[in-house]
Amino acid sequence: KDTPVVGLKKVLLAAPRGYCAGVDRAVIAVEKALEHYGAPVYVRKQIVHNIHVVTELEAKGAIFVEEVDEVPTGSHLVFSAHGVSPAVVNAAAERGLQAIDATCPLVTKVHREAVRFARDDYEILLIGHEGHEEVEGTAGEAPEHTTIVGSPDEADTIVVRNPNRVVWLSQTTLSVDETMETVRRLRARFPNLQDPPSDDICYATQNRQVAIKKVARDSDLVIVVGSANSSNSVRLVEVALEYGAKAAYRVDYSSEVKQEWLDGVNTVGVTSGASVPDELVQELLADLADAGYRDVQEVKTAEEDLIFSLPKELRTGRSGKQ
Ligand code: SF4
Repeated sequence: KDTPVVGLKKVLLAAPRGYCAGVDRAVIAVEKALEHYGAPVYVRKQIVHNIHVVTELEAKGAIFVEEVDEVPTGSHLVFSAHGVSPAVVNAAAERGLQAIDATCPLVTKVHREAVRFARDDYEILLIGHEGHEEVEGTAGEAPEHTTIVGSPDEADTIVVRNPNRVVWLSQTTLSVDETMETVRRLRARFPNLQDPPSDDICYATQNRQVAIKKVARDSDLVIVVGSANSSNSVRLVEVALEYGAKAAYRVDYSSEVKQEWLDGVNTVGVTSGASVPDELVQELLADLADAGYRDVQEVKTAEEDLIFSLPKELRTGRSGKQ
């Protein structure tokens, strides 16, 4: 490891960062729907949790709504990357809406697990944040069989019907370390706790956390580009602080960076959440360069080349692999 040279300002740029395959697909789905059907196209909830993306799509003719009953009968409605419960799918069908499902395939995978374990009469301990759209969607697959576990501390107190018939699943965008702590504490109480067939925390969340851990230990300050309601972005701030960054902040835009954050800072770590377009990171890098941080070193911990095919309602020859 290089010995830090006092006064030598630099940026450590985490890779992977920014857009994941599920976000890329969801944003393209709205753009394609606008091209195919013309504006307006309705979108239930924010298509992805990023204010810049939502604003840009609004300018192109997307209308974001909270619930299905706000959408005029017969319109096109896109379901966001975070997924929806069967109740929402049914409500859209009953209203005569043309639904386009932009749920990330990795979220759909967790839905399928929930359905299967509920059918086998397991109680599902769903580790995730109450009120987050993804958790509402997944829990909605089997509401009578699901208990949400919001933190390691909640693992110590939740009550289950039959401790020998429990399985844990999780939201895709959690802290890997904290989730494992929750599982450890659940298993201490329920030794027969079943694991999911594969990790629910998705590759993109995991890869961004691994990269920021490496960056954080050599950074005086870490700046995460991402929105406040973006679970994986908020986790990146927490992980950066836990892994040695002296300070870490989240911003939507570079203009939110405060001058005093940079006081006495030699090394700035930079990353972005899975819903963040890279242009926002480039703006931050340009502003940091103006402040003297011109030396940008990429810290790469993984390669990503996953692409998901478009939602089936929109497939017109764009190929991709799942
Ligand atoms: Fe899918 Fe993971 Fe991206 Fe969420 S963060 S959209 S689960 S790839």
